[in-house]
Amino acid sequence: MDASDLLRNSLLQLSKSGTVRQTIEKAPVSRSVVRRFVPGDATADAVAAVAELRATNRLATIDYLGEDTTDLTQAIRTRDHYLELLKALADADLSQHGMGEVSLKLSALGQYLPGDGHKIALDHAREICQAAANAGTTVTLDMEDHTTTDATLESLRELRQDFPWVGAVIQSYLKRSEGDCRDLAHEGSRVRLCKGAYKEPESVAHQSSADVDQNYVRCLKILMAGDGYPMVASHDPRLIEIAGALAAHHHRDADSFEYQMLYGIRPEEQKRIADRGNQMRVYIPYGEEWYGYLMRRMAERPANTMFFLRGLASKN
Ligand SMILES: Cc1cc2nc3c(=O)[nH]c(=O)nc-3n(C[C@H](O)[C@H](O)[C@H](O)COP(=O)(O)OP(=O)(O)OC[C@H]3O[C@@H](n4cnc5c(N)ncnc54)[C@H](O)[C@@H]3O)c2cc1C
Repeated sequence: MDASDLLRNSLLQLSKSGTVRQTIEKAPVSRSVVRRFVPGDATADAVAAVAELRATNRLATIDYLGEDTTDLTQAIRTRDHYLELLKALADADLSQHGMGEVSLKLSALGQYLPGDGHKIALDHAREICQAAANAGTTVTLDMEDHTTTDATLESLRELRQDFPWVGAVIQSYLKRSEGDCRDLAHEGSRVRLCKGAYKEPESVAHQSSADVDQNYVRCLKILMAGDGYPMVASHDPRLIEIAGALAAHHHRDADSFEYQMLYGIRPEEQKRIADRGNQMRVYIPYGEEWYGYLMRRMAERPANTMFFLRGLASKN
């Protein structure tokens, strides 16, 4: 294991630590540093970020931050934030044709509640899907750690019975993912392919970045050759180039797939992709629960960690 793998593992471990979380969240400057990746806490901040992206022909998918809740009130609050957000997007004329869609984490909607957590999260997701349909937009179900993959895909199947446009997410670090891509590469199926952001055991996930990348390409080949709608979520220049080549090979029109990146990461490249006529969607997280999200971004790239630490050091 090299130094960057060690840093990655430590940061992913810290993303679950309550004590470190409290210390970092209370540091007075944290919020200003976080703003590069999270545009704000309020619905209005998310809507403003979508409007800003629209000005450069970029699309958006918006995530109300929060995960792993075991508190029903919190799960209900998260659902309500999404309902408010979808109304605000529609009022601002930013939701039509999927321009501003939303991304959901089932664990934020109650999946881990004791007893009937699965059903509660699914019911909340269903209400959000109905609100998205009313606003003329779509929903994607984020994928979390591997212990939830089967349950999330099951919820996806149930939601798609009424809302066939609900998007799935496949993580190329999981060894099972080629099979899942085959199952999902059918007409009308929106599938986001990403590398995967959680710390996963060797029994289920590729550990080296070379293996994760190779599996990404294998999954991409299946999705691009299929009849669905691939969503290529990566900042990796090599994978972006391969996606373009595969799309051309399969004679895909520019509106039959899209690229996706995270808010604040490679913004110039995002604009370049949109300018050349491809669809570019930016994942915008907003809300107060930014800790876990930010730690995962730092784990991915030492430069992001340095950016954060420099911000803390220079302003304290
Ligand atoms: C839209 C979107 C949705 C996602 N949804 C999920 C999800 O539901 N579940 C999940 O587990 N994960 C999700 N992820 C996270 C994903 O799994 C990865 O953890 C994350 O995208 C980093 O992987 P990468 O493909 O960008 O490659 P990395 O291996 O992190 O980076 C590859 C290369 O990209 C370039 N690069 C990366 N960051 C920068 C930067 N800041 N500046 C310049 N160049 C950079 C560098 O050349 C780097 O070598 C999502 C990611 C995106 C973009």
